[in-house]
Amino acid sequence: MLIKEFINETNKNQIISTLLKHYKVGSVKLKMKNMKDHAHYDVDRGELQLSTKYKTIKKSQVKEFLITILHEIYHAMDAKRYGWKKFKDMYEYEMNLRIAKGQDEYKDNTYEIEAEKFGQNTWQKWYNTFKKQQLF
Ligand SMILES: [Zn+2]
Repeated sequence: MLIKEFINETNKNQIISTLLKHYKVGSVKLKMKNMKDHAHYDVDRGELQLSTKYKTIKKSQVKEFLITILHEIYHAMDAKRYGWKKFKDMYEYEMNLRIAKGQDEYKDNTYEIEAEKFGQNTWQKWYNTFKKQQLF
């Protein structure tokens, strides 16, 4: 395995901290957690969780990594905008609404759709920025 095929831990952390600062979600509760996903916004706890599982990321996974982080940051931005407790209520209401309509509570969830759109629309810009900074 070639070292160059991977983003090292320092650069990975640099990417994450740049994104958190840029989107001003530093005031949202952050938690480091050993988990499969790169990031997760826990609606019930109002917590943006970042994975400690991967010390490195494969270069081929940078796109997926960025989309995931940006998606979860979007939830954190919503939580900051409304206050995490209010956002929790709004999110639960949305889930119940989808279920009542016979839809999927996640796939058809407005907050999930918006967060995914944000990730899909912004990852390329950040990819170029971080590449220019030679972070991978
Ligand atoms: Zn989500």
